[in-house]
Amino acid sequence: MGLFSAIFGTYSQRQIKKLLPTVDRIEALGQRFADLDDEALAAMTDTFRARLAEGETLDSLLPEAFAVVREASSRVLGKRHFRVQLMGGILLHQGRIAEMKTGEGKTLVATLPAYLNALTGKGVHIVTVNEYLAHRDSEEMGQVYRFLGLSCGCISHAMNPRDRQAAYAADITYGTNSEFGFDYLRDNMVLDLRDAVQRGLHFAIIDEVDSVLIDEARTPLIISGMGENASDLYRKADAFVRGLTGRVVTEIEEGKNADALSEQALPAEKAAAEGAAGEEVTAAPQGGKDADKPAVQKYDFVVDEKARTAVLTGFGIAKAEEHFKLENLSDPENADLANHISLALRAHAVMQRDVNYVVTQDRQVIIVDSATGRLMPGRRFNGGLHQAIEVKEGVPVKQENKTVATITYQNLFRLYQKLSGMTGTAMTEEAEFKEIYRLDVVEVPTNMPMIRVDHNDLLYGTVEGKYKAILAKIKECHDKGQPVLVGTSSVEKSEELSKRLTQMKIKHSVLNAKQHEREAEIVAQAGTPGAVTISTNMAGRGTDILLGGNPEFMARRELARQGYSPAVIEAACGTYPTQHEQVLEARPLYRELLEKYRLELAPAREQVVAAGGLFILGTERHESRRIDDQLRGRSGRQGDPGESQFMLSLEDDLLRIFGEGRIMSMVKSSIEDDAPLNFGILTRQVRAAQMKMESRHFSYRRHVLEFDNVIAEQRNLIYKQRREVLENEDIRPLPERMIREYVAHAVEHYLSEDNLGGLVRAFTPWCQTRAALDYRYTVQGLSDLDGEQIKERFLARALEIYGAKCEQFGDEMRQIERKLLLRAVDRLWMDHIDAMDDLKDSVQLSNYAQRQPISEYRILGSQMFNEMTESIRDRAALSFLTVRVVPKTASTPATTAGFRLGARRPTSAGKPVPQRPAPVKHGPKVGPNDPCPCGSGQKYKLCCKLKES
Ligand code: ADP
Ligand code: MG
Repeated sequence: MGLFSAIFGTYSQRQIKKLLPTVDRIEALGQRFADLDDEALAAMTDTFRARLAEGETLDSLLPEAFAVVREASSRVLGKRHFRVQLMGGILLHQGRIAEMKTGEGKTLVATLPAYLNALTGKGVHIVTVNEYLAHRDSEEMGQVYRFLGLSCGCISHAMNPRDRQAAYAADITYGTNSEFGFDYLRDNMVLDLRDAVQRGLHFAIIDEVDSVLIDEARTPLIISGMGENASDLYRKADAFVRGLTGRVVTEIEEGKNADALSEQALPAEKAAAEGAAGEEVTAAPQGGKDADKPAVQKYDFVVDEKARTAVLTGFGIAKAEEHFKLENLSDPENADLANHISLALRAHAVMQRDVNYVVTQDRQVIIVDSATGRLMPGRRFNGGLHQAIEVKEGVPVKQENKTVATITYQNLFRLYQKLSGMTGTAMTEEAEFKEIYRLDVVEVPTNMPMIRVDHNDLLYGTVEGKYKAILAKIKECHDKGQPVLVGTSSVEKSEELSKRLTQMKIKHSVLNAKQHEREAEIVAQAGTPGAVTISTNMAGRGTDILLGGNPEFMARRELARQGYSPAVIEAACGTYPTQHEQVLEARPLYRELLEKYRLELAPAREQVVAAGGLFILGTERHESRRIDDQLRGRSGRQGDPGESQFMLSLEDDLLRIFGEGRIMSMVKSSIEDDAPLNFGILTRQVRAAQMKMESRHFSYRRHVLEFDNVIAEQRNLIYKQRREVLENEDIRPLPERMIREYVAHAVEHYLSEDNLGGLVRAFTPWCQTRAALDYRYTVQGLSDLDGEQIKERFLARALEIYGAKCEQFGDEMRQIERKLLLRAVDRLWMDHIDAMDDLKDSVQLSNYAQRQPISEYRILGSQMFNEMTESIRDRAALSFLTVRVVPKTASTPATTAGFRLGARRPTSAGKPVPQRPAPVKHGPKVGPNDPCPCGSGQKYKLCCKLKES
């Protein structure tokens, strides 16, 4: 603590102090609402709404509204918000991040601001990290809202659009971040507003906000449709890369190219100091160590372990050119191949199975979130990397998908009018929350004093030495009945430990964040005497570990075993008045079970407390301190005793890569294999390494965001205009204006190139009927006219055709125009997204003299955007001029008066869109039984003149 904060308190302490008068007011109001009966208490909701309507503000209602929720919660759930929970609630309402430790009851905190803000009727979204939590929280907290006359919904992945609409129509809606995101994207692709499910983004409360806004910030949400065929370039590039040798360096220094690094051996002492980092790798099989290789070696590629990139050296490039029989790999015409080689290289040399991704039994490659170890099914590495990994692993390659819509979480959540979040671990990322989201972080004091003992880190010489010590520690705890939660950084390491524990005959559970619900149950029991639980750091997040065991979970499980449904069980845990027979029947049973288990577990709790509480054993320091804090925070909740200890080795990635400098070399020379080092300096050194890594990740995310902001601005514009079109029944005079501009623009364009032929060809689809050639719109027919006259002639023709269409379709034309316009917007926007993606790659690769890639991207991106809007205009205008009737038949999908539309609603993430909207270039075709457009009065199929043409 600095001098300033020692005198004046930390920022958080000062912020908390400001809340105290409000907290006191809420507490003072307690008695007033306690005196009301249930009905009168619930009626307060309408009173508040009325007062809002009369001009009162949410801020002024806050103390009373919070007091009402508090009273309702204690009646319905038997849980009365603690003072610190009131503070958290105020912070959330103010649009800030409340850092509240694990077990402080954040789920309950959210009810306060959710209720208050829902009074406006605009909808509050509560965002959770998985569906299990969304259901759990909406079920439990929903009872409080419903008691007070508000509705509460929950979005789940499998829901159909109609149920989704209903869930969003509720006053308060729970769901996962990805569901909120995908619904936002899908809503901006509907052709009819009635198909949209959300009602705007007003206020979001994000639970585990660091996980959502920081850990997941690197992987955008993508809705994709079918794209072009997957090329076999992936396979060719993969085969080539398998024959290469490379080396790993910790950092490719600026100004030093890959060749320099591969030709010279590193200076002897540096190489020695780097130990394992200097080892050579062969692309496949990975990690082949060969001590006999000379130190000087011509490598084909170099892997930069810090930047997580792999690049070909000059030798590698030469090999590629020979292999593929090319003159020059860097020629633009070989760009596609070069890109595939670079992807294959990354797939082999950088991306590791069971670390960065896993291969499932049904042969799919699934991303593992690097920060949390959580699997992310449905998400794919972008830019073709996922396919390259699929080839590497020999599993089926998914068809290359075209991005139909995409958004990053940063830009999704910035769309909310008000945003807030809560988590046990936000302080370390304070700067990022501030800079990116304009959210400030305030640390809320714990309800009970924290008495967990955090031991200094222990450092071992080798991984093996460390493992031995870890196993010994686990055994020690296990033997004396102290539960241990062992945190690992990857699924692979969890499994390794589990194998060795099995050999030692120590009973344990392993969690990999694969099955949230089942794992929640295991985690809930991780506090029973002698329990050993191994977990990647995301697993079981959101579930409370109670010392001795969790009686609530056990009571619920027993009810489930007796056949009660989840909804009934949830209601049975509450005390909310109900007529539901099963609930009434289950309630006393639940109370009874709870009491029984509580009694049963009481000695177990005593035993665990006596043994020192939950022991957290970290087997590695994570790159981010926050993730370590998250692990550690699972112990010592609500004043419980507990301990935490991290055990490290010099061979751990973090130390290997960042543990440089004098102190480290001193440490290295003085350490012995099984006698660990334990001193404060080491802990500081590790912290410094973590902070370096954190800032590196932050700048990476900032970089991603800078690029994403460019497209986000464009997306917002397109979505806004799209929505205007959807909201307006009648978009006149827009179509006519677009037609005029289209004609004028095309005429000017072609004539400036002196290309009358081109102009005529471009206009033929709408100018000429198929019945007969109209001489006035041929090259000969126009050759005597000057530019203005040509423009006039075409314009007159276009307006004449448009007028005829309007007459033909009558009022229907308004609908048709809107849909044609939307179709043009969607199609070209999708192409634009892909083009922007390519542009991003190319500006990052090429060296623009003196220019930053990002500013280049901005400039070129906005040019492309302008071109796209022109294309939208042209394509829409063309379709207004060429739209034709199609008969309604059984096989035609739901249409408006026989006007054929594309897919109404794309499916969700990763799944292919069943039907891409057909190109509108030539307009919908005339059906066989329609009157022929030539005006002959015959059916089209019988009109021979037309068919010949
Ligand atoms: P967090 O998300 O902060 O880790 P949870 O919301 O999961 O914590 O709550 C932890 C446990 O504490 C839950 O069992 C919850 O029901 C309980 N709890 C929370 N607030 C209260 C309260 N005011 N009174 C009693 N129990 C509470
Ligand atoms: Mg929680």
